[in-house]
Amino acid sequence: DVPSNKAYRHPRWVRVNTLQTSMSEQLVTTFAGYEKTSSVQEVQRASASVKKYFEDPHIPNLLALPPKVDLSKSAAYANGAIIFQDKASCFPAYLLDVGPDDGDVIDGCAAPGNKTTHLAATVAEGNVHVKRQKVFAYERDRIRSVTLQKMVKRASAGSIVTIKAGADFLAANPDSEEFADVGAILLDPSCSGSGIVGRDDSIKMHLPYQAVGASVVTCKKDKKRKRDHNMTLYNGSTTLHMSLDEAIAEETPIEGQLSDRLTALSTFQLRILTHAMRFPKARKITYSTCSTHFEENEGVVFQALASEIASARGWTVLPRQLQVQGMKDWKRRGILEPEKLDPRVDLAHVQKEAICNACIRCEK
Ligand code: SAM
Repeated sequence: DVPSNKAYRHPRWVRVNTLQTSMSEQLVTTFAGYEKTSSVQEVQRASASVKKYFEDPHIPNLLALPPKVDLSKSAAYANGAIIFQDKASCFPAYLLDVGPDDGDVIDGCAAPGNKTTHLAATVAEGNVHVKRQKVFAYERDRIRSVTLQKMVKRASAGSIVTIKAGADFLAANPDSEEFADVGAILLDPSCSGSGIVGRDDSIKMHLPYQAVGASVVTCKKDKKRKRDHNMTLYNGSTTLHMSLDEAIAEETPIEGQLSDRLTALSTFQLRILTHAMRFPKARKITYSTCSTHFEENEGVVFQALASEIASARGWTVLPRQLQVQGMKDWKRRGILEPEKLDPRVDLAHVQKEAICNACIRCEK
């Protein structure tokens, strides 16, 4: 829960890359001299020079450090032993809970590769005991594929991850021999980004249309002069340059355009999720976005669960009691607001219980 207080600051989250090192090793090397704290608030309030850490109780191998701490020049960051990855971004791979019996894994929307390398680390734990499991990482954008390649290499995940550079996951044939053993799929598709903390904070404070999550590409952050600055808003097809005053005056049209963008995004997200449901051996999918919009989250999951392929293969939301240990007590479970759904969706297929926006499983 984020306090409304503007002074609230997010900690710097660091994932220890178990492909290379361990938490205990990092605590006596990179974080030697750091004091362990018992609450995340304590590190959140600390200045960058204070050496304190908090070990996350939900995600294994995740540390919270003071917000402005700079580890970008540390050897551990340079060689991939630690990875800067927000807690929210660590849930999808952790929730997928890949075990030795799950076979191969697909990351359908992979770059820059935070979740791919996290997946590889979880898969590697199982690989000690059974036949080697692979992670196929799809990335449609060629330039972002280069970043993905670098990240996979730096994290030492190359022996587990097969990169499908410049390849569209929607074009991957679920019935091909290559994917015959794919049992789990992680989907983190392109989205509006409305939930990314820090990206549009300055706008959130001032603009009435913050609620519709306009995606800000550039906006100078000088607080005193903010109202004089020009900004650029992007709605998926059109780029608008305007002053903040003009942007406020333009509220209604921007809102309209944003809803068009949400429709386009959620249509794509639904396609990608229902495509993943077609892989014959797949039993688990995590679906995640960086968006706060119902349309991109539960709205997509509801519609996917109401699709023909979902009912044919028996996809449902994973019940709380079957989720990974750390998540059983997680209080926030998303929302069920059927009135927000497209009226054509047949609710008979949709599970009438609070939905966890990420975990779905297949029973057939
Ligand atoms: N999972 C990534 C991580 O944690 O680092 C972030 C993924 S980002 C939100 C979405 C990515 O999916 C973008 O790099 C985008 O180019 C890629 N993408 C979008 N549509 C795709 C498709 N049909 N097939 C493969 N990649 C796609």
